[in-house]
Amino acid sequence: MEKKSLEYWQNLAASLHIEGRAFIDGEYRDAASGNTFDCVNPSDGTLLAKIADSGEADVNAAVAAARHAFETRVWAGLNPRKRKSILLRWAGLIRAHMDELALLETLDAGKPISDTTSVDVPGAAYCVEWFAEAIDKVGGEVVPSDHHLVGLVTREPIGVVAAVVPWNFPILMASWKFAPALAAGNSVVLKPSEKSPLAAIRLGQLALEAGIPAGVFNVVPGAGGPGKLLALHEDVDCLAFTGSTNVGKLIMQYAGQSNLKRVWLELGGKSPNIVMADCADLDRAANSAAGAIFYNMGEMCTAGSRLLVQREIKDKFLDKVVAAARAYKPGNPLDPVTSMGAIIDEVQLERVLGYIEAGRKEAKLLLGGERVDQASGGYYIEPTIFDITSSDAKIAREEIFGPVLSVITFDTAEEAVRIANDSDYGLGAAVWTSDLTTAHEMSRSLRAGTVWVNCYDEGGDMNFPFGGYKQSGNGRDKSLHALEKYTELKSTLVRLR
Ligand code: NAP
Ligand code: MG
Repeated sequence: MEKKSLEYWQNLAASLHIEGRAFIDGEYRDAASGNTFDCVNPSDGTLLAKIADSGEADVNAAVAAARHAFETRVWAGLNPRKRKSILLRWAGLIRAHMDELALLETLDAGKPISDTTSVDVPGAAYCVEWFAEAIDKVGGEVVPSDHHLVGLVTREPIGVVAAVVPWNFPILMASWKFAPALAAGNSVVLKPSEKSPLAAIRLGQLALEAGIPAGVFNVVPGAGGPGKLLALHEDVDCLAFTGSTNVGKLIMQYAGQSNLKRVWLELGGKSPNIVMADCADLDRAANSAAGAIFYNMGEMCTAGSRLLVQREIKDKFLDKVVAAARAYKPGNPLDPVTSMGAIIDEVQLERVLGYIEAGRKEAKLLLGGERVDQASGGYYIEPTIFDITSSDAKIAREEIFGPVLSVITFDTAEEAVRIANDSDYGLGAAVWTSDLTTAHEMSRSLRAGTVWVNCYDEGGDMNFPFGGYKQSGNGRDKSLHALEKYTELKSTLVRLR
C-alpha cells in the first residue's frame, strides 16, 4: 500500500476536530466541575486540546451508568451472537476511521504515524474482532457428580469493569482490556492516561454508532484522579490495570481498602535478551535487539532493555547492534519515513536523561546519550547503548522506559539464566541459539510470561496470553484466558430427585 505523505497528515491534522470531553452514559460531557487539563503534543510541545478533568462526580456518574446498564441486562442479557455482531460493527468503524485515530495517537503520544497506522489502530480493531468472534464459541461445562445431580459450571460477567491504562500504546492497551470485558457482557469504565486520552475519547462516539447501548462503555479522562477513584470505588467489581509496578501496588491496596474488587495488573519489565555464541544469524539477532529496545522510543513494557551477550561474540555482535541502532533516528512522528518519534512528555524526558546521566557514571557509553532536536520544542532522545561493567548498575536493574540499552556480558548459559532471572520483573525474555536443547532448557528456566526463541516481540496474534511473572503483574491479557479475568465461575447443582 502506498504511504501517505507528510503533507497529507499535516493537512488532516489541521482540519481535525479533537473531542476532549468525557463519554458517560452514551454522551459527551464536560467534567461536572468544569475543570480541564492540557493535552500536549510531545513532538513540538504545543497544546492540542483541553480535556475534561473527570473528578468524583464524573467517576460516580460513569460507574452508575455502567451499573445500570449491567443490571438492566441491555448488554449482558444479549445473545452472545448479538454482542458479537455489534462489536464487529465497532471494529469496522475503528478501521473506517483508521487515519483519524492513528493521527490522534501520533499527535497525542509522539508515536510515528507509520506505527500507529500499522500496529496500534489495526491492532485494536483486530483485538475487538477477535474477542467478538470468540464470544459465541466459548461455553461452560457439565461436570461429573452424584447421579441425582446435574452439575453445571458456567462463566458469568463480573459486572462493572474499570480499565486503567498507560500512554505507551494508548488505544491498543485499552483494547486488550475492554474487548474481552465487553465481549463477556460486562460494562466498562475506561480511564486513559492523562498523557494520551484522545483516541479513547473518540472511541466512545464510535461505540454508540456501532450500537453499544448507553452506559456499557464509558471513558473518564482525568489528570491523576480518576484512576484512584475507580480503584477505591465500592461499586466497581473488577479493575484491570496496565502501568507501572508502583501504581499497581497501590491499586491492590485500594482494592483491599474498599470492596476487594478483582485486580489484574500488567506492570513493568526489565526483560533480558540473551544471545548465545552459537546463534546462527547474528545480523538478525542484532536488528532484533535494536528493535527490542528502540521501537516505540523504548516506551515498551516488554522492551529488551538488558542485552546479555556471550563473551566470545561480544565485540563482533555489538558492532552489529550499534549499526542497527543507527537506523532509529528521532524525527517528526507525522513523517511517514520516521522510525522513532518523541518521548511522551517532559517529565519522562527528564527521567530518561537522569538514567543516562547515572549510566555515564557506572557504565561505558557505546552510542547516543543525548537529547536531540530541541529546537523543535519536542522531546527527542537518540538511541543510547551502555556496556555494563557492574551487575548492580542502576540502569541495568530499573525500568527506564526509554531508548536506553544495557549490555551485560556472560560466559555460560547458567550464568546467563541467573543474571536474567535476577530481577524483580518477569515480563518477557528471549534466547538466541542454534542448539535445540539449549533453547528449550533456557526457555524453561527463564521466569517470564513470554519467552521468545530466535526472535523478539514476535507474535501479533491474539492467541498468546500476555502478562508477567513476579512484579510484572498477574493475570493475562489476550487469548481466551483473558476472558477468565472478566468472568466469575459459577457452580450450579440441580437435584433431579
Ligand atoms: P503509570 O504511571 O503507572 O500510569 C498508568 C495508569 O494509572 C494511568 O492511567 C495513570 O493515570 C493511572 N494512575 C496513576 N496513579 C494512579 C493511582 N494512584 N491510582 C490509580 N491509577 C493511577 O504508568 P505509565 O507511566 O502510564 O505507563 C508506563 C508503565 O506501564 C511502565 O511501567 C510499563 O512497563 C507499563 N506497561 C506495562 C504493560 C504490560 O502489559 N505489562 C504494557 C504497557 C505498559 P494518570 O495518567 O492520570 O497518572
Ligand atoms: Mg499526550
